[in-house]
Amino acid sequence: MDKQQAQEKVIELSELLNNYNYEYHVLDNPSVPDAEYDQKMQELRELEEEFPEFITTESPTQRIGGEPLEGFKKVQHNVPMLSLGNAFNAEDLRDFERRAAGVTDAKLSFVCELKIDGLAVSLTYEDGKFIRGATRGDGTTGEDITSNLRTIKSIPLTIAEKNTMEVRGEAFMPHKSFLALNKSRDENEEEPFANPRNAAAGSLRQLDPRIAAKRNLDIFLYGVGEWEAGSLASHSERLDYLKKLGLKTNPEWKKCETIEEVIEYVTYWEAERPKLGYEIDGIVIKVDNLDQQEELGFTAKSPRWAIAYKFPAEEVVTILHDIELSVGRTGVITPTAILEPVKVAGTTVKRASLHNEDLIRAKDIKLGDTVVIKKAGDIIPEVVRVVEEKRTGSEKAFHMPESCPACGSELVRLEEEVALRCINPNCPAQLKEGLIHFVSRNAMNIDGLGEKVIIQLFQEKLIHTIADIYRLQRDDLLKLDRMGEKSVHNLLQAIETSKSNSLEKLLFGLGLRFVGSKAAKTLAVHFETMESLKHATYEDLISIDEIGEKMADSVAMYFSEVEVTDLLAELNELGVNMDYKGPKKQEIAQNTIFSGKTVVLTGKMDSFSRSEAKSAIEQLGGSVTNSVSKKTDFLIAGDEAGSKLDKAKQLGIIIWNEEQLREVLEK
Ligand code: NAD
Repeated sequence: MDKQQAQEKVIELSELLNNYNYEYHVLDNPSVPDAEYDQKMQELRELEEEFPEFITTESPTQRIGGEPLEGFKKVQHNVPMLSLGNAFNAEDLRDFERRAAGVTDAKLSFVCELKIDGLAVSLTYEDGKFIRGATRGDGTTGEDITSNLRTIKSIPLTIAEKNTMEVRGEAFMPHKSFLALNKSRDENEEEPFANPRNAAAGSLRQLDPRIAAKRNLDIFLYGVGEWEAGSLASHSERLDYLKKLGLKTNPEWKKCETIEEVIEYVTYWEAERPKLGYEIDGIVIKVDNLDQQEELGFTAKSPRWAIAYKFPAEEVVTILHDIELSVGRTGVITPTAILEPVKVAGTTVKRASLHNEDLIRAKDIKLGDTVVIKKAGDIIPEVVRVVEEKRTGSEKAFHMPESCPACGSELVRLEEEVALRCINPNCPAQLKEGLIHFVSRNAMNIDGLGEKVIIQLFQEKLIHTIADIYRLQRDDLLKLDRMGEKSVHNLLQAIETSKSNSLEKLLFGLGLRFVGSKAAKTLAVHFETMESLKHATYEDLISIDEIGEKMADSVAMYFSEVEVTDLLAELNELGVNMDYKGPKKQEIAQNTIFSGKTVVLTGKMDSFSRSEAKSAIEQLGGSVTNSVSKKTDFLIAGDEAGSKLDKAKQLGIIIWNEEQLREVLEK
């Protein structure tokens, strides 16, 4: 390559990478996989190495992250939050060791940590109290996201010593929260997040902290920023110290004496990572001794004493045999790719959602194509692209049908929607999905009436509507496959029990568009009976705090349908309860310290019994559960509290003794 060609290429790559950076760091919405970004970056780095005269300060090789978003207060990082150099194979790691060994005389040892794929954040504690949290931003200026970070329950609001210090770590969204979030976005007909990283970054960069609070994020702390009194000798001691302060560190870190041991650790986690409940995209290797770190110093963009080993994204090639269509509860038609089974990131993949017709067009997918598959965020199978070179000419174009594959009625595309929908309210596929939803755990919770039984009941024409569930007879059920006396008895019992569920469960089960289980509860507490909810106007609904326009519209529309009035009358006749049974709105005090919070009681208390404490907390708007988890907000620990107390301490949950609870209740 001559000089001029090199210069042109440097400019081209810089522009491309700057644009990718903007999409990734500012919009939280990357358009290319990380591996592609890394590969282009590597190409630019090699070119700049050969032609250093073309390096500019604007080059993406010299810059960190993205600009802070407007709308947030800016935070200055006095100790810059840097990026990390990359290693892609064992040789790169050995090079890293050789370079470091060339600078320092003493023997090197390393700390290996999982590279959590989330958002780098800085937490500032003043006299032991959490006062400020910020994003990395461009490394020197970040965004003040304190109120969002305060919603992460594993961030302690006070630490064990009255330090004034800045700690750093990675906020992330565990797989479980990610899957639940996308499921509810799907239910609410919102665009799902592409992967947990985007979901975490998107949640923390919301101006409304109530959104972040709902997202169940978590954090691991791995470093120290500004800290005047810091006098520890090694990174491993720092990690121990952070833990001692009550800050959550990742338990999988390991001190390694040689680079070969580092390589073993990397290889181990590359295979084991699907078992973690969260995303990692590599391993971070740090020189352990802090004096040696200082000796090694920094480049403009990253420390010389650390490196990130990046796992290759696992992409595999397979054949797309067919595209299957399914009809959801709300009538949306979803195309799914039927694939030649293939192993990706630990499991066998046979199907992958193609979401909608536009996506099939955009990726130009044809039946019989050879396709590249990966797991988005390492969990959800996705068709990345078609391998065009493998086309033989026998592939067939795919067209969405004009009529519903289940009932044959004409499909429509509603305004501003990409999805095609069947709008026939009697479409059997929709009814079936609606029934599956109705009996599910958060709805009527009818044990023993799983998807398979519903499908059979449907095929045997034993049920058509929700009300039919309550008309099922012993003899009908005995006809079904694998249904003995005992299971029939249990199922009938479960159906009977469900009749007395409180209103919110029935409401959620009815599957009104945009009404999730939380909204159902809000409506139930507010209106108390189905009858009064039925008569609520749009204005009545919208005046409730947590009910937005879309939801108010959907609820008002729903109850105006004749079919709905009939269905509710039938259910009522069949003995299904239509009243709310929890504490009444006026009995629930508003804006108390327990409003909307989850509390666990443990140990012995002198001044009240467990059930007295429980009902007092519920009247203050809290809910009392049995086990301590990340979702717990308060632990009230009486005498002789045991493992629950330990766990709460580990998770950094607020812990009160009986005295503190009594004070609040007395007030
Ligand atoms: P990086 O991913 O190379 O590593 C630095 C970051 O690692 C830190 O800021 C921190 O957030 C994180 N980290 C996680 N665990 C850590 C631990 N235990 N110790 C220290 N740090 C830890 O650097 P970067 O500057 O954040 O981002 C660059 C990367 O982002 C690229 O390599 C690329 O994969 C991705 N990216 C992708 C696109 C795209 O369009 N797809 C665009 C820009 C960047």
